[in-house]
Amino acid sequence: MREFKTESKKLMDLMINSIYTNKEVFLREIVSNASDALDKLHYESLTDANIKIDPSKLEIHIDIDKEKRTLTISDNGIGMSKEELENNLGTIAKSGSLDFKTNNKKEEDIDIIGQFGVGFYSAFMVASKVEVISKKYGSEEAYSWISEGIQGYNIEKSSKEEYGTDVILTIKEDKDEEDYTKFLEEYEITSLIKKYSDYITHPIKMEVTHQHLKEKENEDDKDEYETVTHEEVINDLVPIWKRNSKDIKEEEYDTFYFDKFDDYEKPIKHIHTKAEGTLEFTSLIYIPLHAPFDFYTKEYEKGLQLYSNGVLIMEKCPELVPDYLNFIKGVVDSSDLPLNISRETVQQNRVLKVISKNVETKVLRELANMQEKSREEYIKFFNAFGMGLKYGVYADYGANKDKLKDLIMFYSSKDKALTTLKEYISRMDKNQKEIYYACGETVDKTDLLPQTTAVKDKGYEVLYFTDYVDEFAIKMLDKYEDKTFKNVCDDSLELNSEEEQEKLKKKNEKSKDMFDFMKKEIPEVKEIRFTNKLSKHPVCLSSDGMMSASMEKVLNAMPSDNKVSAEKVLEINEKHKISKKLKDLYKNDKKLLKKYTKILYAQARLIEGLSIENPTEISNLMADVMSK
Ligand code: ADP
Repeated sequence: MREFKTESKKLMDLMINSIYTNKEVFLREIVSNASDALDKLHYESLTDANIKIDPSKLEIHIDIDKEKRTLTISDNGIGMSKEELENNLGTIAKSGSLDFKTNNKKEEDIDIIGQFGVGFYSAFMVASKVEVISKKYGSEEAYSWISEGIQGYNIEKSSKEEYGTDVILTIKEDKDEEDYTKFLEEYEITSLIKKYSDYITHPIKMEVTHQHLKEKENEDDKDEYETVTHEEVINDLVPIWKRNSKDIKEEEYDTFYFDKFDDYEKPIKHIHTKAEGTLEFTSLIYIPLHAPFDFYTKEYEKGLQLYSNGVLIMEKCPELVPDYLNFIKGVVDSSDLPLNISRETVQQNRVLKVISKNVETKVLRELANMQEKSREEYIKFFNAFGMGLKYGVYADYGANKDKLKDLIMFYSSKDKALTTLKEYISRMDKNQKEIYYACGETVDKTDLLPQTTAVKDKGYEVLYFTDYVDEFAIKMLDKYEDKTFKNVCDDSLELNSEEEQEKLKKKNEKSKDMFDFMKKEIPEVKEIRFTNKLSKHPVCLSSDGMMSASMEKVLNAMPSDNKVSAEKVLEINEKHKISKKLKDLYKNDKKLLKKYTKILYAQARLIEGLSIENPTEISNLMADVMSK
């Protein structure tokens, strides 16, 4: 007997002891695995000349044996080798199980089963014993995997005529209120297939019993019935996306999504489109509510499932999805696509180009609509995927910026809530020339920047850029309508009158020698000067030129040997007591002024979120100064 992996054990335990009322979903899980196995075999036959199958013979069989209490689900799909039985059924590799691990509260666990099912193991909700007999396509040997639950499983050599897989469930005996025997009823099984698996594109066949009226020999004979059984296709065979959207319930759209795209939360939106005319195609696109667990890893692949007239030809076709919409899920089906389309020809395929344009337009329109009409929902979406949209503004030298500029949102000093650029502009005062923004790690930290306070004190609204991509995106945007953007930490930010500027200029000229002296202590700083824009804060760091301090941070965090440096200006509040102190020191204690300079610069760097090269030195200097 082999043991299950720890994770699998936990999940099985939950399945076996489940008080979950929706146990019937096990059938959906098993049938969907069978259908995937058929798809896989067919898909491989398209690219591998050694695989010769007749696609019309790919099918699923369901068999009920009331005597033995078994329910068997068979497919003539790809099958599993001994190793695959071991790896696929002995462990759980599902994304959902990660979530499962983190919340161990019973209630929530049950919810996970309900919303998304946990694949193969859900069989243990209704079966006391599960046997899987499988023969891999092209192999001579068949193996069986048997388990009676948490204790473990056995894999043995077995025999099986045809390739494919039989899943044999021995249905539990009824217990207390629990009716398991119903899963051995023809009627129950056919209704469950209708409910959960009607979109499966392969035929699901089952022996079905009918009562027929016997033909009468004489007119006045009594009505007599006979029982006839014959095999029938019990599913509809029309995939959901080919049906008329008017006839599809919201619930059906959701079930299809859970099952097909391994999510456990309802999507925010679905977009079901049928195009007719010179080019015929159907698409069913979903916008998920949250990012999948691997979304920000290299492993994540964007793409939509591609079908040629109901036959799966590609699991993930990336050409159908622009990068900035990489979160969408869905299927595209077109009868204008060749069955044997290869990875190479996909890129040049004219039909796909047209479809992908259409998908893009539809999704963008839907997002704009959601932003306008259901802001709360849009914000949920934006929190999950907004970063990608902002990246889309920046990427490809801004080629898509016009499509995306109204979809992106930023936190604003107005209510500390997300706002669009359009909304910001509409609130701008006549005198306000530019759109102000500040960069920082979080909204709260950015709000506390001396420069932010200064701009807010003048009555202007400030946007908070907290994603690394934000500032790059708006630099690419350059302008929104005719308004330019201004970093509140930009050296050229001007909030005061010309007269005041003139006065300040004079003060700075008078202290030029002092600043030159101080600069020797902090050579990386381009300039030191007094400022009149800070209300009560003593210092700040501004940047001169295109690159801001926060852009420096982002660029230097990237793996590259070329480190960049923003041109920094140390600004000292001329109205703060510190400016007089500095002037005194310049006259009387130059040594101490050197220490002050380093400390002030370190403070300004910290405020900007930049690190200090030698914190120990700064700490020593501060202690020195404090002990005076
Ligand atoms: P999922 O289907 O989400 O991957 P499951 O727990 O349902 O998770 O199944 C685990 C794996 O076992 C599948 O990914 C598949 O590789 C394999 N498997 C299950 N049923 C079959 C089958 N009928 N034919 C071939 N492989 C199967």
